[in-house]
Amino acid sequence: MNAVADARPDVRDALGRPLRDLRLSVIEACNFRCPYCMPAEQVADDYGLDAASRLSFDEMETLVRGFVQAGVTKLRLTGGEPLLRKRLPELIARLAAIEGLADIALTTNGSLLAPLASALRQAGLHRVTVSLDALDPALFKELSGGRGEVADVLKGIEAAQAAGFAPIKLNCVVQRGINEGEVLPLVEFARSHGHIIRFIEYMDVGTCNGWRRERVVPSAELRDRIHARWPLQPLGAQYRGEVASRYGFADGRGEVGFVSSVSEPFCGDCHRARVSADGRLYTCLFAAKGHDLRPVLSLGQEAVGRHLAERWSRRSDRYSELRGSAKAQRKHVEMYLVGG
Ligand code: SAM
Ligand code: SF4
Ligand code: SF4
Repeated sequence: MNAVADARPDVRDALGRPLRDLRLSVIEACNFRCPYCMPAEQVADDYGLDAASRLSFDEMETLVRGFVQAGVTKLRLTGGEPLLRKRLPELIARLAAIEGLADIALTTNGSLLAPLASALRQAGLHRVTVSLDALDPALFKELSGGRGEVADVLKGIEAAQAAGFAPIKLNCVVQRGINEGEVLPLVEFARSHGHIIRFIEYMDVGTCNGWRRERVVPSAELRDRIHARWPLQPLGAQYRGEVASRYGFADGRGEVGFVSSVSEPFCGDCHRARVSADGRLYTCLFAAKGHDLRPVLSLGQEAVGRHLAERWSRRSDRYSELRGSAKAQRKHVEMYLVGG
């Protein structure tokens, strides 16, 4: 860690958790309509295409500088679909120049990645995560709300690898009775191409995806299924607050991760803030509403940093630990607004 990072205040929330990660949505629009996130029958085709409400690149840079001042070292750009944001490599180049930011990653559905991968790499993006819920073309299309072609995503992954991103992470949300049959083929695909696949439990994010607990496939069950085919051994966390629990294949050919927000909540180590494309701060993925940061952005990065430190110190969110209890919040921000 460099001198800037060392000099930063040790901001803690009300439960003693530092602020380390920022997930910044660069656009609220998406070209897919995955039913677990943005169901087509609930979200209009032209949703989020009005650019007027989005933060500008200047505002995003000030915002990220303020977050770095408050303790953030890792940034993930997301959406909606972040590759729909025009001139994204230009934004990345500006953010990559911020001292104290050790890591910049991007989460994408991959459909538009092929023509952009090399420009993203050259701009200074460190890592790419591609969401991939199925390899079967018909099922993939269905899971994208009839919008996506798996072939385009596979081309995007290939282009990212050719551009020098390594390893590439693949995210798969598994739903009972829907894409369980894709799990082993996806592991095989990841292993044979040197990618890291992570299985994410289907979460009760937002209010429009009709979440039912019966649709959740607990990570332990998936881990057992994968272990029966390719024996696994647990790997330690690479850093405190790592969201996925990691397992290596006993034959040495890569690793797999599990994000178990429903079956094994990890709120105690949650160091992550989220900001929507219109500049609202969410201190939990399941928060009901955000806090508008726009007014403070015009005051400059130092003011933003102080403001964030003050807001963070009041944070006490731990929704996943309260899920199902009377204390748990019923209304949640939509996933496509905060990007995962
Ligand atoms: N559009 C990009 C993509 O799909 O990668 C970035 C935004 S998307 C909201 C980020 C991640 O959230 C994706 O990996 C997606 O699978 C995941 N996601 C969306 N809804 C989810 C849900 N209900 N439960 C678990 N993960 C979900
Ligand atoms: Fe779009 Fe990503 Fe949500 Fe799918 S998961 S609808 S690709 S934002
Ligand atoms: Fe963090 Fe909220 Fe998820 Fe808990 S439920 S891990 S506090 S985002």
